Amino acid sequence: MKKVGIFGGTFDPVHLGHLRAAEEFAEGLKLDHVIMVPSANPPHREESPGAGPRDRLEMVRLATGANPRLEASDLEIERGGSSYTVDTLLEIRRRQPEWELFMALGTDAYNDISKWRRPGEVISLAHLVLLTRPGFAVDFLGPLPEALRTEYSREGDMYRHSAGATLRSMSVSALDISAGSIRSLVSRGLSIRYLVHSDVFEYIQRKGIY
Ligand code: ATP
Repeated sequence: MKKVGIFGGTFDPVHLGHLRAAEEFAEGLKLDHVIMVPSANPPHREESPGAGPRDRLEMVRLATGANPRLEASDLEIERGGSSYTVDTLLEIRRRQPEWELFMALGTDAYNDISKWRRPGEVISLAHLVLLTRPGFAVDFLGPLPEALRTEYSREGDMYRHSAGATLRSMSVSALDISAGSIRSLVSRGLSIRYLVHSDVFEYIQRKGIY
């Protein structure tokens, strides 16, 4: 069975923090590959993204093109509208029922999971891997809606859902880069070289994004 990772985000723009985390996620869990899925219209963000969906997808394509471990997916952008994780997982399941899915989540995103659409399905469709900074403790069950907490039992250093999917953490390199800080640097006319993949750097410059 193929082990496949899913790494979602706004990727506005994709930066080296995302790419390094995805690389360590793939390597650490011995995944066959990681699909990076830029969202069309992130339902939980207050401001709309700076770059359009096509540009965000193209930047993910440029950043991952030379890496056989990472792959850009147009699934959410093609679907359009608000991007709900449950719909994405169900679609990947439908297309590739034989894949074992591992979904990477930043703890910031996981802390909001009770606000997601159908979180009960999300946690049973894929193994959840909470990406943490080295040395940070994770509250595994706290963010879940109360009714879902009882579905889990402890298994070593992870939790297992009654449907079989696991919930675990993985520590990844803490590169202090955020998409917000990159947008801010560009808008102030400052350099973002070495914060993003060189092809992404050139793309942003050429198209005058942000
Ligand atoms: P913004 O600054 O616009 O909020 P961001 O840099 O956090 O954006 P997102 O597209 O929102 O980027 O993040 C996608 C995923 O990548 C999330 O799970 C987030 O936790 C994770 N992530 C973001 N920055 C880093 C980083 N520097 N290292 C590791 N993971 C990161």
